[in-house]
Amino acid sequence: MNRGQKDDLRKLVEGDIFFDEPMGRYTSFGIGGSADVLIFPREVSELIEIISYLRYEQVPCFVLGKGSNLLVKDGGIRGAVISLIRFFRRIKQAGENKDCAMIEAQAGISLTELIDYCLKRGVMGLEFASGIPGSLGGGLMMNAGSFGGELGQVVKRVTIINGEGKIREKERNELSFSYRKLHLSKDAIILSALLELKTGAANKMAHKVKNLLVERRLKQPLKYKSGGSVFKNPPGFFAGKIIDETGLKGLKMGDAMVSDHHANFIVNLGEAKAGDVILLMERVQREVYERKGIKLEPEIKVIGE
Ligand SMILES: Cc1cc2nc3c(=O)[nH]c(=O)nc-3n(C[C@H](O)[C@H](O)[C@H](O)COP(=O)(O)OP(=O)(O)OC[C@H]3O[C@@H](n4cnc5c(N)ncnc54)[C@H](O)[C@@H]3O)c2cc1C
Repeated sequence: MNRGQKDDLRKLVEGDIFFDEPMGRYTSFGIGGSADVLIFPREVSELIEIISYLRYEQVPCFVLGKGSNLLVKDGGIRGAVISLIRFFRRIKQAGENKDCAMIEAQAGISLTELIDYCLKRGVMGLEFASGIPGSLGGGLMMNAGSFGGELGQVVKRVTIINGEGKIREKERNELSFSYRKLHLSKDAIILSALLELKTGAANKMAHKVKNLLVERRLKQPLKYKSGGSVFKNPPGFFAGKIIDETGLKGLKMGDAMVSDHHANFIVNLGEAKAGDVILLMERVQREVYERKGIKLEPEIKVIGE
């Protein structure tokens, strides 16, 4: 990105803008080189102008949520990173009848805030996502799930901006969710979603959320920085169990380590580089393939250069 483009963006952006910003500050791994520019737009109209400008200037653009499923390489990101997590956080109840409650939320809200909002209003159906440290936008793109639930199951409608800067609404029947993936065009940005949930007993839900959070704390190495599960579960298997059986728990590259608590987590012991994590991922994939004949596919997204 050249100086003129940076000057233009500074004038265009009303929200927050940072140049040459280290991405380690915005990822749960705490790892990542600098992005040329990181933008937190305030309004939809501003976002549309930014997208149009970047498209015209042929500047690549990446959408960042809470960075909890990302490994940003040490060379950083050329082009622009746009994130909705600062200013696109509105949430409202959009209707309710006897059993059903509709919640409309913007993509930048965290899943934790969303669940708290639901708990306070006796709205059930998102408890499965308790403790997933992402945003609604990232959660939808990843079809995030746990304890038998997935976000795709509760979506009624998603509003996106496409690559031409046009706003489009996609109804449930136009959306294709699969394991850890929502199939949208490459340059789509999720703005908001309408979720179809249920009315229920707040105390029962609070109890369930509490139990799931305890279970998470017992199973996951939450005292270290990480990107969550590194590999997808191959059909019929658990990636963590396979890696454990291959004897790779505790394996280290620099400050990156295959967690000795949960083998499908790679943790950052302090100063890990993306290069260390990538070498470790490749080693795990190689050894699991050699010993078990199973190909592990990454769940975390590796981006940048
Ligand atoms: C400790 C820990 C535990 C975890 N547990 C789980 C779990 O139980 N289940 C699970 O599924 N995941 C889990 N994860 C992974 C992660 O939290 C989820 O994938 C989460 O949904 C990612 O959301 P995010 O906002 O952080 O997205 P990011 O990591 O920022 O981005 C993920 C993808 O979504 C895209 N994206 C983000 N926002 C938008 C948007 N508005 N429009 C379009 N694209 C967008 C990004 O471009 C990227 O491709 C865990 C992670 C950690 C660190």
